[in-house]
Amino acid sequence: MRQSRHLGKTLREVPKDAQTAAHALMLRAGYLQQLAAGVYVYQPLLLRTLNKIAQVVREEMTAAGAEELLMPALQPRELWEESGRWERYTNIDGIMFAFKDRRGGMVCLGPTHEEVITDILRREIKSYKDLPRCVFQIQTKFRDEIRPRFGLMRAREFIMKDAYSFDADEASLEKSYEAMRQAYHRICERIGFRYRAVEADSGAIGGSGSQEFMVLADTGEDTILFCDQCDYAANQERAQSRLPEPAPDPELRPMETVVGEGLIQVEPLAKFLNIPVWKTTKTLLYEADQQWVAVMVRGDCDVNEIKLANFLNGKSLRLASPEVIRKLTGAEVGYAGPIELPKEVRVVADHLIRNRVNFECGANRTDHHHLNVNFGRDLPQPEFGDFKLAQKGEGCPRCAGTLQAARGIEVGHIFKLGTKYSEAMACRYLDAEGKSKTVIMGCYGIGVSRMAAAWIEQNHDEKGIIWSPQIAPYHAHLVGLNLEDAAVCEQAEKLYRDLQSNGCEVLFDDRPLRAGEKFGDADLMGMPIRLTISKRTCEQGKVELKLRRQAQNELVGLNEVIPRVKALLAG
Ligand code: ATP
Ligand code: MG
Repeated sequence: MRQSRHLGKTLREVPKDAQTAAHALMLRAGYLQQLAAGVYVYQPLLLRTLNKIAQVVREEMTAAGAEELLMPALQPRELWEESGRWERYTNIDGIMFAFKDRRGGMVCLGPTHEEVITDILRREIKSYKDLPRCVFQIQTKFRDEIRPRFGLMRAREFIMKDAYSFDADEASLEKSYEAMRQAYHRICERIGFRYRAVEADSGAIGGSGSQEFMVLADTGEDTILFCDQCDYAANQERAQSRLPEPAPDPELRPMETVVGEGLIQVEPLAKFLNIPVWKTTKTLLYEADQQWVAVMVRGDCDVNEIKLANFLNGKSLRLASPEVIRKLTGAEVGYAGPIELPKEVRVVADHLIRNRVNFECGANRTDHHHLNVNFGRDLPQPEFGDFKLAQKGEGCPRCAGTLQAARGIEVGHIFKLGTKYSEAMACRYLDAEGKSKTVIMGCYGIGVSRMAAAWIEQNHDEKGIIWSPQIAPYHAHLVGLNLEDAAVCEQAEKLYRDLQSNGCEVLFDDRPLRAGEKFGDADLMGMPIRLTISKRTCEQGKVELKLRRQAQNELVGLNEVIPRVKALLAG
């Protein structure tokens, strides 16, 4: 491609609304243009990269035995009513773009395709002989994200590869899941990410059936916790941890109520009461789909709202407002406790609270705290569960190691769905005995466009993007200087043709600009190999070769350059 004809001008200024390197560099290097919040034009250079990422994904999906199809982005409401997700996706979470068509029916733009694929497969599958099946598509998805940001990282229209597996039994699902898991590792390795596969939240379905593929980067939106001794690694949303449980007091002391004015933070409160912080209690009130829930965690811990939502069967949670807290507890915010709450409040507590003796909790009275509280005597046993947010520095749940933290960008997510959709939508098969059974499903997503952003987040310097040959828009950037000189121009044109006929994809900077400007653009755009041809190099029968990842350059003979480039691309 000749740069004089190329669409996608570079910008000198760093765009104001770009908060991450990848977002800023994509805008500056002419890869991306914003059309509306979270909606982008994939300019020609970006499209080439997206196609290459998609091709790696396609090859590995196919090698893993999945078959490609393409489903409509436009989906009818009826299918979402069948699965029971219409209300939640349109109204409660509001993530779905839905509208009325001229026939008066409601349709939506697919944020995901479980409903459509289940509908397709339930027509196809009759008996156990029709299983297993695994299909995938690479397609534009639409999600009306609350906070679209960081460019392609969290867009409202983006490219996803989604795959779905259909199996007769759990053992077969295991195999399908494992094949996908391995394919995901190969995709990340082929592209060259520094990444980590971690245990992920699998919603109210629970189980260990979900993993995320996290590209490691400081700007990642997710926190991952991993053990410094074993291979335990999990998204913080899901992670468990070990905390020491100090020996309980030998005897129960009488409960008392003390005044601790304005003490709503656990540290000053513990100091004032002369007790360790772990004996204090944080009691938080939530609204969970019109139900009130009070959750208790140890004072030195925080609540993991995702674990709490899963415990409550996937209800959407909202921290209660100050007015609601005042109404339910009769006190200002900060003094909530589990004793004498109104009956309609469901009380749940973290496991770590179970064995505590003589603990503190809020008294539901402004400035008041209960001391030496004990379950069974002062209040009934609440429902216990794992509600604590695991933190770095805490113990690994599997071994004696310690949890470390890193930031990650979720580029892929694999998930054992079980029968959630097949049951709701009656996707069934006849087994060998002629008995009707429910198909077991898995789903597997990769953010193709997010991967491009994640790559740049991991691979850039102050000058610009650094692509690898695998996913670079072009392998080489040929910079022509002094092209007004007929001899130089001829050599440059010949090299441009020869490179292309030898399988090297070239962006040829044939613009009449100063050398500094051209080099600046080449660094910004980030092709892995830069070749410069000028009057000076031509006189020596040479070309200057520079790798984007390296600082130094070298002169290579005009007739050696093709084999050199080929070797670089091969290795
Ligand atoms: P997130 O937690 O980041 O919102 P998700 O868990 O909702 O993502 P999935 O439904 O698992 O996402 O989608 C599969 C993949 O699609 C994700 O792993 C991610 O790479 C990509 N993806 C999801 N939402 C977006 C988005 N708004 N913009 C770009 N890519 C996205
Ligand atoms: Mg996910």
